[in-house]
Amino acid sequence: MIKVLKFGGASIKNAEAIENVFSIINTFKDDDVVIVFSALGKVTNMLEEVVDRYVQKSSTVYEKLQEVKDLHYNLINKMFDQDHDIFNIVNNLFLEIEWVLEEDPNTEISYDYDQIVSVGELLSSNIISAFLKLNNFENQLIDARDIIKTDNQFQNASIDWSLTTEAIKRHIIRFPVITQGFIGCTSENFTTTLGREGSDFTAAIIANILDAGKLIIWKDVDGVLNADPRFFDKTILLDHISFTEAIELAFYGAKVIHPKTIQPLQKKDIPLQVRSFNNLKNNGTLINSDKINNKRPSYIVKENQVLISISDKDLSFIIEEHLSFIFSLLSKYNIRVNLMQNSAVSFSICIDNEKYKVPELLGELTRRFNVFYNDKVMLYTIRHYNDVSIDTLIKGKQILLEQKSRNTVQYIIS
Ligand code: ADP
Ligand code: ASP
Ligand code: MG
Repeated sequence: MIKVLKFGGASIKNAEAIENVFSIINTFKDDDVVIVFSALGKVTNMLEEVVDRYVQKSSTVYEKLQEVKDLHYNLINKMFDQDHDIFNIVNNLFLEIEWVLEEDPNTEISYDYDQIVSVGELLSSNIISAFLKLNNFENQLIDARDIIKTDNQFQNASIDWSLTTEAIKRHIIRFPVITQGFIGCTSENFTTTLGREGSDFTAAIIANILDAGKLIIWKDVDGVLNADPRFFDKTILLDHISFTEAIELAFYGAKVIHPKTIQPLQKKDIPLQVRSFNNLKNNGTLINSDKINNKRPSYIVKENQVLISISDKDLSFIIEEHLSFIFSLLSKYNIRVNLMQNSAVSFSICIDNEKYKVPELLGELTRRFNVFYNDKVMLYTIRHYNDVSIDTLIKGKQILLEQKSRNTVQYIIS
């Protein structure tokens, strides 16, 4: 049976963690596996910082890059002999970043972002593939840019499904395969990325096209819980949920699964298992097409939100023409609305506080409207809420906006 395994940054944060991943992979010896890797630990965040400093033309950009280098060289120094070819491979990957840094920033920041940040996944996958080979686990490393074909919307590229299907079927003919999550390639051969946390999505695309029997995503938590343990004390494992429930949880921002992951699996009825790489005795969460009547409240927190309230300059009604202008701006900046609400004279939207997009959006909106905004707010969602769950959540908090539907209640909290 073909199985796709996906390991995120936390599972491969250092040499011990990679050895643990190796022991997990070894238990899949009888399967045809495709293994998708993210960048090591928090490397994507570090590379984003490199991009920021590069765009701001800060002289400290090379210091930040050096931190990324140190992290990788410390790791391969531990894992390989000095004459191993991995040192050349890693040198060359860092050279690709340095070539970008030598030029002036492009007018399209997202393009530079993708050329720099994608290197994180290339580094981790090359290192792990070489490490497995060194330990007699033969594998074929396939560059995701040969198989994941996208449009040229850098930093948030969309998949060209027909080209990707053709490429995956052409390249993936032997197993085991190792490849990168998160990254892809345009028809002009430019590297793209699929949006933060996009590796889960890559794994789902591959599973769909290969008609895999299962996708297993390995996490630092026991599976999908009814709340993020970083924010809530007493969390409960959801051992079996439907595709629909998983889509809802991901849509509202449950960080454990990327929102685009479920649909490609649901289309081919491929079960998804979310398991802990630290606790192999636990089967984690099974997500499939079974109808499950789960009415337990689940809590979702989205941090770093901005609530923007827009009203007409002469305090008249917000009319359709205004709404269509506001939505055209959101579409221009490719901004997703997490919650919206309108009243007689104002229209409010809650969006992620993306540092390059939000100031530009606010700039354009203020030219035509009165605009108020609260940044650093949080968006809380409860699926399958009841009175007790609401009371516990909002106790002592300042609520800026509330929205309730049959299954879901949302609060914007400052
Ligand atoms: P990866 O290593 O694959 O990138 P992430 O860090 O993106 O993994 O996702 C795992 C994290 O998701 C957990 O550590 C947890 O803090 C967070 N999380 C948010 N919501 C949930 C939830 N409902 N169930 C489990 N984990 C959650
Ligand atoms: N490395 C990327 C990120 O951290 C993609 C991923 O991990 O899914 O966003
Ligand atoms: Mg992640």
